[in-house]
Amino acid sequence: MPQNVGFIGLGIMGTPMALNLVQAGFNVTVYNRTRSKADPLERAGARVAASPAEAARDAEVIVSIVSDTAAMEEVVCGEGGVLETIRSGAVLIDSSTISPTMSRKLACHLAGKGASMLDAPVTGSKHGAEKGELTFMIGGERETLERALPVLKVLGKKHIYCGQQGLGLAAKLAMNAILATMVEIFSEGFVMAAKAGVPPQTLLEIMQSSLARSGIVDFKAPFVFKGDFTPYFPLKLMHKDLELAMEAAYAQNLPMPATAAVKEVYGAAKAQGKGDLDYVAVITFLEGLAGVEVRV
Ligand code: NAP
Repeated sequence: MPQNVGFIGLGIMGTPMALNLVQAGFNVTVYNRTRSKADPLERAGARVAASPAEAARDAEVIVSIVSDTAAMEEVVCGEGGVLETIRSGAVLIDSSTISPTMSRKLACHLAGKGASMLDAPVTGSKHGAEKGELTFMIGGERETLERALPVLKVLGKKHIYCGQQGLGLAAKLAMNAILATMVEIFSEGFVMAAKAGVPPQTLLEIMQSSLARSGIVDFKAPFVFKGDFTPYFPLKLMHKDLELAMEAAYAQNLPMPATAAVKEVYGAAKAQGKGDLDYVAVITFLEGLAGVEVRV
């Protein structure tokens, strides 16, 4: 049973995840690039490290959840990175959504130090992170997963093994391509109906009585109707995931035509300065084109 846990990346997701580990009784050493975001963890009883290397030094298990592929490469291979200190036999659980190719490359670097890695991206958003109810999609060796489970069980309620290194990420990217496309197409429908004069609540009621009913629309519609785009999952990160999905498709010689088109709509919203809003703010780009707002 691991006792010492390193935690790297205290953003929207990482902060509540790390707090749950502290509250579960692990000795947690956290690192965040912007030091001030580590203050709540320090108050809760975590030790604060000055670098990823320091967070990894004594850890049996290290959890990372940073923005993107470049950030994760820096955290592992950069100056003061995890590779400098990671112990032989330690496990790095990376929950960032990054390129599966990079994840496999980082796993090779760690194997050179006698350490193992799981790609373990998550779904469940900020609420799931706060409640310790995330769903993990996991790639890597099963034996590594067994060793990491005591930590993973504090963070999530479901741990779905997808296969070898990188396949957790492949599953995550497929899921986010589906989610982003659903939100975009529902946005198009709501904007078109609003422009024609159908009240948004009426269209929602119709959808909830039909096979077009969708969990994501049921959950997000009240936020959209209020114009509340507080970021639970920032639009710029969804755009990043669509880029990664296209990259993974290209590597397999596959077309993803709808994903490609939808990626451009999120890209346009991001270019308008909406990257830090929640990803459902993609609707505001379409509203701007139509000259109508889907509000109640
Ligand atoms: P976030 O709030 O933007 O946090 C990003 C974190 O990455 C911050 O701690 C940031 O440090 C760190 N970071 C960025 N660049 C770095 C670098 N070069 N070196 C070291 N640290 C760096 O993002 P988030 O919403 O927590 O998401 C984190 C990851 O989880 C992303 O891959 C995202 O796609 C995935 N994810 C998010 C959600 C969600 O609902 N939010 C759900 C599932 C998966 P600073 O504080 O210094 O900027």
